[in-house]
Amino acid sequence: MKNYKIALLAGDGIGPEIMQEAIKVFKLVEERNDVSFELLHADFGASAYFKCGHPFPDKTKAICDQADAILKGPIGLSHEASKKIPLDLLPERGALLPLRKRYNTFANFRPVFLPKALGHFSPLKPEIIGEGIDLIMVRELVGGLYFGEKEVGINERGLRYVKETLEYDEEQIRRVVHEAFKLSMRRKKVLHNIHKSNVLKSSVLWNEVLEEVALEYPQVEVKHLLVDAAATLLCLNPCQFDVMVMENMFGDILSDQGGGILGSLGLMPSACKGPEKSYYEPSHGSAPDIAGQNIANPYSMIGSVAMMLEDSFDMPEESRNVWNAMQSVFAAGYSTPDLSKPGSGVKMIKTGEFGDKVVAALRAMPIAG
Ligand code: NAD
Repeated sequence: MKNYKIALLAGDGIGPEIMQEAIKVFKLVEERNDVSFELLHADFGASAYFKCGHPFPDKTKAICDQADAILKGPIGLSHEASKKIPLDLLPERGALLPLRKRYNTFANFRPVFLPKALGHFSPLKPEIIGEGIDLIMVRELVGGLYFGEKEVGINERGLRYVKETLEYDEEQIRRVVHEAFKLSMRRKKVLHNIHKSNVLKSSVLWNEVLEEVALEYPQVEVKHLLVDAAATLLCLNPCQFDVMVMENMFGDILSDQGGGILGSLGLMPSACKGPEKSYYEPSHGSAPDIAGQNIANPYSMIGSVAMMLEDSFDMPEESRNVWNAMQSVFAAGYSTPDLSKPGSGVKMIKTGEFGDKVVAALRAMPIAG
């Protein structure tokens, strides 16, 4: 029997609600397979700040260090509530970026997936969705503007100013681009390179390195696309994309649009891969507007579990079963409130009911091997 330690960072807002549903799935996967999971709960985010005085307490760091993988819920507060926390201890600055840095999780995989049968969840027209949306965004996660030097002050004209630095070296670009090419090789062998080289020198270097790496993957067709055009084409013709690769901030913004074309950020799980350890998280934030109501969509969190099973624990068949279980709940006519309006013919269910139905569907599936 294999034993894995998993750090669970429930986070803020809807985080604890959707984490509960992920735990149901871990328990059933353990029951069905020759594997055991030690689930190690740890404080992280704004809740950790209020409880322990820091959004990424030392105790949490120690738990993450000893874990084989980390499942992280969304963190953060509403705009107004954020003012209760000093700037440098806000959850993103004080916890999320340090987590990424600590484990050097340089490649972030964000699947944007909606089968044709669930096209009614999307705001796009059926003729645009065609046979379904199925693409993966690969976002560089530990470089660029979010990690660069920052300076604020008063300039010589007496005006408040801010300076933030966007820095990449070729090694940082090369390693994430390799990940994107390797993924393309396992999929349709078409890679969209998203950049802004008409304005940014960082994109010029990005493209140079990408073209060098491309020589190692001659079977992959590379298509270059400016990030602004990519935003438009994601709405007008998302089905042309298979794998998209981009730097940190472009990926942050475009992947939220990925959630938009599916119908909700609640359909956006992700995997953040480092050289030794990976962590997994929904792509979205803590959704303070719906927190505590048991109406959040836990697909993003359960999908992150599915990604963990495949990438960290080498359980691709069980991972596929988890994905299929979630799709089967939607296919049976159920919907969480983020994806459908009341009266639209769906059977509306809450967070906990979605998790229960996924578990029931998974239980009914044959065990691989
Ligand atoms: P958000 O992603 O939390 O929410 C945007 C919209 O999507 C909201 O209407 C919300 O209700 C909805 N939504 C998001 N996830 C959902 C789910 N699983 N089910 C149903 N609906 C869902 O973005 P925001 O409101 O701009 O940010 C809230 C907080 O989250 C902020 O403090 C922000 O800094 C933080 N944040 C954290 C992360 C992270 O932890 N990785 C990412 C983005 C934002």
